[in-house]
Amino acid sequence: MSTRLLIHNGTLITFGAPCRVLEGQALLVEDGRIARIAPRDAIPGPFDRVMDAGGQVVMPGLVNAHMHFYSTLVRGLGKAAPSATFQEVLDNLWWRLDRQLSLDDVETSAQVVLLDAIRKGTTTLVDHHASPHAITGSLDRIAKAVRASGVRACLCYEVSDRDGEAIATEGLEENARFARRCAAEKDPQLRALFGLHAAFTLSDATLDRAAALGRELGTGFHVHVAEAASDGEANLQKHGLTAAARLHAHGLLGKGSIAAHAVHVTEADMDLLAATETFVAHNPQSNLNNAVGIADLLQLAARGVRVGLGTDAMTVNMLEEVRVALWAQHLRQGHPSCAFMEVANTLFVRNPELASQLWGFPLGTLQEGAAADIILVDYHPPTPLNGETVLGHLIFGISQATVDTTICAGRVLMEGRRLALDVDEAALAARSRDLAARLWERF
Ligand SMILES: [Zn+2]
Repeated sequence: MSTRLLIHNGTLITFGAPCRVLEGQALLVEDGRIARIAPRDAIPGPFDRVMDAGGQVVMPGLVNAHMHFYSTLVRGLGKAAPSATFQEVLDNLWWRLDRQLSLDDVETSAQVVLLDAIRKGTTTLVDHHASPHAITGSLDRIAKAVRASGVRACLCYEVSDRDGEAIATEGLEENARFARRCAAEKDPQLRALFGLHAAFTLSDATLDRAAALGRELGTGFHVHVAEAASDGEANLQKHGLTAAARLHAHGLLGKGSIAAHAVHVTEADMDLLAATETFVAHNPQSNLNNAVGIADLLQLAARGVRVGLGTDAMTVNMLEEVRVALWAQHLRQGHPSCAFMEVANTLFVRNPELASQLWGFPLGTLQEGAAADIILVDYHPPTPLNGETVLGHLIFGISQATVDTTICAGRVLMEGRRLALDVDEAALAARSRDLAARLWERF
C-alpha cells in the first residue's frame, strides 16, 4: 500500500493560468501524485502522515529551465583575468574552468547545488553540462547525485567544436548514451535533452550529426542562442545566418527544444522561435552579470514566443530570479510598470508547461493528478491574498520568505527547514572545498 500524506490548514497557490489561491482546502498525496484537493472533511482517512501547514502557503515545487551544476566550484575563484567582453568571460573563466573539471568535480558540484535547490524549493532543474576532458560518464555521475537528492533533473552534455573533433564526437556520444539510458529506465527523476553549446562554436558538420542523433533518439535540443551580440555576428560572418536561423536550418529548433537567452535575436528570429514553438529560457541575473543585455520579453511575448525562466547557475532560488527579471525588464524598457504579466508567466506558467512536456505528465502546478512536487513556505500575508493579488505576493513577498518543507514525487526531502536526506552536509562541503582548491590549482 502506498503512503497517504495529507497537507491541511495552509493556503494553496496553484500556479498555472490563472494562478489560483485556495483557502480551506487540503491536499492528499498518494503514489507520488496529488490525488485530491478538497476540504479536509471531504478526504477520508486513514493517513500515514498529516502535515499542518498553518501560517504557510502551499505551492508547487519550482522549476529552473536553464542551469549549469558544474559552475559550483567557481565560487570565490579570483584567478580569472578581468574580462571586457562576453567572449573574454568565456575565454578567461568558463572555458579555462570546464577543461579542468574531473568526474569527481562534476558529481560533487551537482550534490552541493541540489541540496541548495531543496532548501530553496526548486524541485525540477534543466541542466546544461560541460567538462570537455571528462565527458564520458559525466551525465551518469550527475544523475547519481540527482537520484540521491530526490529532486528531478533533465540533463544534457553541451557539445562544442572549440576543443577539437574528438571531443565534439565524445560529447555527441555522451548525449546519445544518456538519452538511451533514460528511455530504457524511465526513471521519473531523470530526463534527457540533446545538448549543444552555441551555434558560434559548432561547425555545420557537428550540427548535422547532432540533428541526426536527436531525431533518431526523439529528443529536443538545449542550446545557448544569441546570449551576446557576438553570437549573431560570428554566425552571420561565417555562415550568412543568425544563430537562430542557422540552428533552424539544421533542424535543431522545435517544440521539444530550449533556446537559452535569446537576448540578441532579430524580429525574424523571434518569428522563427514562435513558429517552431521553441522554448526560450530567460536568465536575467546572468545577463546582467555578463553585461550582454536583456531579452525583450514584451516583443517575444507579442510575437508568440514561449518564454520561461532559468538562472544560468547564478542561483537556484527561482523567486529571486523572477524578481530580478521584473526589475531588469523595467530597466530594459525604460518603464517602471511594464511587463508584469510577461515576467510572472515565465516562472508560474511557462516553466510548469516545459517541465510537464519534458516529463510527460503534469508537473509544477497544484492540481489533482499532477506530480506531488510541493513546497510549504512560511508566510502570513500582510495584505489581502487572493487570485487578483497573488502574483504581487509571490514576487514581492513570498520570494523573501523561508521555504520550510520541500516534497518531490511525494517524498519529503526537507521538513521544518531540516533536510530529511541521509547526507552529511558539512562533510560534503569539506569535500567540495578540497576539490575546489585542487581545481583552482590546475586552473
Ligand atoms: Zn547557460
